[in-house]
Amino acid sequence: MLPIPALCWLCCLPLQIAGHGLCSRCVQQIPRLPALCPCCGLPASGAQPCGRCIRHPPPWQSLTCVSDYLPPLSDWVQQLKFSRITALRVMLARLILLKLLTMRRDYRLPRVDLVLSVPLHRRRAWQRGYNQAALLAKPLARWLGCEYREGVKRVRHGAVQHSLSASARKKNLRGAFRLEIPVRGRHILLIDDVVTTGSTVAEISRILLAQGAASVHIGCLCRTL
Ligand SMILES: [Zn+2]
Ligand SMILES: [Zn+2]
Repeated sequence: MLPIPALCWLCCLPLQIAGHGLCSRCVQQIPRLPALCPCCGLPASGAQPCGRCIRHPPPWQSLTCVSDYLPPLSDWVQQLKFSRITALRVMLARLILLKLLTMRRDYRLPRVDLVLSVPLHRRRAWQRGYNQAALLAKPLARWLGCEYREGVKRVRHGAVQHSLSASARKKNLRGAFRLEIPVRGRHILLIDDVVTTGSTVAEISRILLAQGAASVHIGCLCRTL
């Protein structure tokens, strides 16, 4: 029997490397980002940390995203939430990997040695069946040659974040997470699917750094700009 060729998720042409998920032409067509601040991941004039980050640095060291929350990425993020298609999550994790490697080279970021994912509360994980951030984080850890741990637990089920104002979000998250592993001296990559205000990853970063993590780097598919 002839093997069935794997097809590109966007143009449906056969792929040269099945596991890549997207052909090289379609990777180029993912909406191009404007120049982004390497620290907060928001649009900035140059390749250096922006004025906001110089005045009030976020509680992490770098933020890498693949795209703004726009099609086709936003459609795939929705599919990732409600389907278990392995090829989709591997393709999306690979997009994050490509960006992470570019960021590491361009900004001489340290090699991470531990990958964590933003947890869902147990109740929500049960409703949905799984945590999409963890689905992205596991293959990334494998490719980066480091450990993946479910080291952060959500201990309190706050109100749904997107219905709240920025200051209410911050308050809503206080005490919402608990760290269950030692992180002293580790360079950590924290994965989420979408980063909006950044209040969730900020809260977890604060906990990690307070427990002695050497640095925290955020990786996500979409950063709402
Ligand atoms: Zn294609
Ligand atoms: Zn910035």
